[in-house]
Amino acid sequence: MVMRRLEELHFINSYARLPDGFHSRLRPQPLAAPRLAAVNPAAAALIGLSPEELERPEFTACLNGEWLPPGAEPLAAVYAGHQFGQFVPQLGDGRALLLGEVQGEGGRWELQLKGSGITPYSRRGDGRAVLRSTIREYLCSEAMHGLGIPTTRALGLIDSEEPVYRESVERGAVLLRMAPSHLRFGHFEFFYYRQAWDELRTLGDYALREHFPHLVGEVDPFMRLFEEVIAGTAELMARWQLVGFAHGVMNTDNMSLLGLTIDYGPFGFLDAYDPGHIGNHSDTIGRYAFDQQPRIGGWNLSRLGQALMPLFEGEAAEAAARANAALEAYEPAFQRAYAEGMNAKLGLAERREGDGDLAKRLLSLMQAERLDYTRTFRALAGTEAPHESLAAWHQEYRQRLELEGRDDAARRAAMNAVNPVYVLRNHLAQRAIELAERERDYSEIERLHRLLQHPFDEQPGMEAYAEEPPEWAEELAISCSS
Ligand code: AMP
Ligand code: MG
Repeated sequence: MVMRRLEELHFINSYARLPDGFHSRLRPQPLAAPRLAAVNPAAAALIGLSPEELERPEFTACLNGEWLPPGAEPLAAVYAGHQFGQFVPQLGDGRALLLGEVQGEGGRWELQLKGSGITPYSRRGDGRAVLRSTIREYLCSEAMHGLGIPTTRALGLIDSEEPVYRESVERGAVLLRMAPSHLRFGHFEFFYYRQAWDELRTLGDYALREHFPHLVGEVDPFMRLFEEVIAGTAELMARWQLVGFAHGVMNTDNMSLLGLTIDYGPFGFLDAYDPGHIGNHSDTIGRYAFDQQPRIGGWNLSRLGQALMPLFEGEAAEAAARANAALEAYEPAFQRAYAEGMNAKLGLAERREGDGDLAKRLLSLMQAERLDYTRTFRALAGTEAPHESLAAWHQEYRQRLELEGRDDAARRAAMNAVNPVYVLRNHLAQRAIELAERERDYSEIERLHRLLQHPFDEQPGMEAYAEEPPEWAEELAISCSS
């Protein structure tokens, strides 16, 4: 692979070629006294960037917006979205800036700064991101990638001396994140609700050409695109539920067209299994509770379907009927992916009647006993019941396993490849945050990042990272303010 310097990145910038009404061009606003806090060579490799480049002062200056690689064309994109069920006609990159789109070996990657200052879409916000939330996004996006779950990636992170005012004074930080596209459902909603049909079509054509090129020339290509987004979202929701991930703010502006996990805010991984878990303290009614996510994914897709309606072929009522039929595939697609994934977690290579029920009974016992989600599934690979309350269930489970052709060692290996030892529990992120905030010591970010790149492998000396949270973690409140 060709290893490039920062100056040699090959910018394509397809989004920047869209007309003016899609974005505003502006420069990032630097923070005082930037300091590099984390870099990710694995993400750099995706754009052919040599790892030494991340140590250059220019890289820090790039995250701080003081220096931009040649070819970058920074812009903030406009979008809209349904926030907690209410339509908001104009949102957009309020604190993010797309630097451009870079050609890598395996595809193109958008490079986006988050926390780089006010944009025309900041509304009442300050355009900043605090160190705490930036560390959480950095670590979690890479942890999700380690788990094999589609997500935006993180290339680097800077801390600063810039005061940012939230519940208290915190320090500003900037994350450099990457994704093949940061397109959200809300991008389409923006033009649909303004009845800007030409722009809606331009956006649709763009998405099709750049991100779903195999659909160009198909009959009714936007219906095909919609079907693919439905399938991708169903798959993503299944992956979240299987790993115990609660996103926290599933507004349509936080839903990726490519089925990526995007915009990490008040997210959390379940510790004790509690299906009604609400990660976001501002979500008083639990709209985005853990067990609501699949349903909300479907609701969000119906909002996207509405926004795509003018692009579907044929007469309106008939196109609407086909869009609804497409949406009806969502729930079964989710159930299929979830059932398959759950069987894999249980080490069942074959699907048999009653498997779903077996899993449901395990989950309700785990809920009643408040058993740790990640640890319980990991322990199932062993021969003993993970907990005495599971003894009766475990006997049944052993009987079910007897029906499988696979030997026990193969089963154990297969289970250990899907049930992680390590997830980014809130208290783990919190320790990294406190060290960074208090001592400007970023070593725990690095340690966690390294650990979570291989979440399925038991790593010597890292046993404490697989433990249940300490009592103080119960008090950790994750709010929307970030
Ligand atoms: P979120 O739900 O956190 O992804 O953000 C919702 C909207 O608010 C997006 O348009 C963000 O760009 C915007 N936003 C969030 N925080 C800020 C901030 N501190 N300054 C400006 N805009 C913000
Ligand atoms: Mg957002």
